[in-house]
Amino acid sequence: MERSFEQYFRQNHLPHLWCPGCGNGIAMKSIVQAVEKKGWSQDNTVIVSGIGCSSRASGYMDFDTLHTAHGRAIPFATGIKLANPDLNVIVITGDGDCTAIGGNHFIHGCRRNVDLTVIMFNNNIYGMTGGQASPTTPVGAKATTAPYGSVDRTFDACKLAEAAGATYVARSTAFHVQHMTNMIADGLDNKGFSFIEAMVQCPTAFGRKNRMGSPADMLKWMRDHAVMKAAWDKLPEEKREDKFPTGCLYSSQAIDYDAAYDQVIERAGGADK
Ligand code: SF4
Repeated sequence: MERSFEQYFRQNHLPHLWCPGCGNGIAMKSIVQAVEKKGWSQDNTVIVSGIGCSSRASGYMDFDTLHTAHGRAIPFATGIKLANPDLNVIVITGDGDCTAIGGNHFIHGCRRNVDLTVIMFNNNIYGMTGGQASPTTPVGAKATTAPYGSVDRTFDACKLAEAAGATYVARSTAFHVQHMTNMIADGLDNKGFSFIEAMVQCPTAFGRKNRMGSPADMLKWMRDHAVMKAAWDKLPEEKREDKFPTGCLYSSQAIDYDAAYDQVIERAGGADK
């Protein structure tokens, strides 16, 4: 029986290459459900990804897609949006792709408030490239480059996005599927740079090394450590240890990059774009 969301996937590119129990498929399906919720056409929606396990998603999704270079999805997406502002442009990236290799592109995309929806699949590690520590690997967690535990302090990508100028910032987890879909759909609604951190389990490169049990155990860990924003705000500091907030963490209004650019064109005498 064909299910409604299957029209959004390239059936001839399936099955996917992700490991059994990987959370990337959950986040990918949340994206198409959010697109479906918005009623966006596949012909008017572009998916752009970088490099890594998460970025393989663009190959499976039946939209106009671009699988770009490591860390470079946001500049490619910015070019697409400026060339044709009528397109809906979604970026899929991973924690390493977005906050390490593409870190500068990320902060400047936020600063410019480009009308993009960036979904960062955060599995706390470089999966595809060999299990190295990424900027979101927790302090003390093991990786192939940190066999005795990482000593680097961890980026909070949501705080980084907010500080850099993103106008919609949210976090959800692979355990909270409907919530994740809603957070992405709200990001699609925002006219400006939207950043959604989708926490996903990587049982192979992160879970195994850190003895986190089965994929189901990793999902339960998310269930037990995520705290909705309203409850988080009331949580005393000492009870926040090893927990993290989820939900819409920040939103604001600001002119988006394309509209600002139009104003420049007008000031310059109304030349064609
Ligand atoms: Fe998923 Fe991790 Fe396997 Fe990559 S290495 S496909 S993130 S489980």
